[in-house]
Amino acid sequence: MAKYDSLTKLLNRRAFLEEAAHQIEIAHRYHRPLSMMMLDLDWFKTINDRYGHYIGDETLVYFSHACQAVLRKTDIVGRMGGEEFAVLFPETSGEFANDMVERLRSRLSNPIDVGSVTLKITFSAGLITLKSDDHSAEMMLKRADQLLYQAKENGRDQIVIES
Ligand code: GH3
Ligand code: MG
Ligand code: MG
Repeated sequence: MAKYDSLTKLLNRRAFLEEAAHQIEIAHRYHRPLSMMMLDLDWFKTINDRYGHYIGDETLVYFSHACQAVLRKTDIVGRMGGEEFAVLFPETSGEFANDMVERLRSRLSNPIDVGSVTLKITFSAGLITLKSDDHSAEMMLKRADQLLYQAKENGRDQIVIES
């Protein structure tokens, strides 16, 4: 049970990082691509302020279901804390991972029904791909997080891809 986040049932931060470390090893050994995304919901505090914490929680659950519905079974999703999530895309180049992320964005393009309210959510994200000298899941996550920060700075509701 300690592997999973109790609200969303996604992998928790520690379990996600363990899985990422494992996937990094596999990708290096077999010379396979691996992409990683860090994402954060935009203006989430206003959802709590406007509708209350319960609706905020339900929105996080809705979002995690949307991720699971849109992404592939082999993609690995974790809740890194609060309204921050990370996704690992094994066997996937940055270009194809970006397609997955756009699928998620279009799934959320219309307002969603959460409990008794209808609201709109967007997210900002940073997307990176494994480099030959990447050996730490934490370092990769940090790199993705820096791009996520840029996406926020650039105005949110967008993804910044590693150049
Ligand atoms: P930004 O676009 O910059 O990300 O704005 P934001 O409001 O989403 O970002 P910020 O990090 O300032 O706030 C995140 C908020 O998410 C703060 C906290 O109240 C809320 N939050 C974190 N975890 C939970 C949770 O488990 N449930 C609920 N309902 N709210 C949460
Ligand atoms: Mg946020
Ligand atoms: Mg946040």
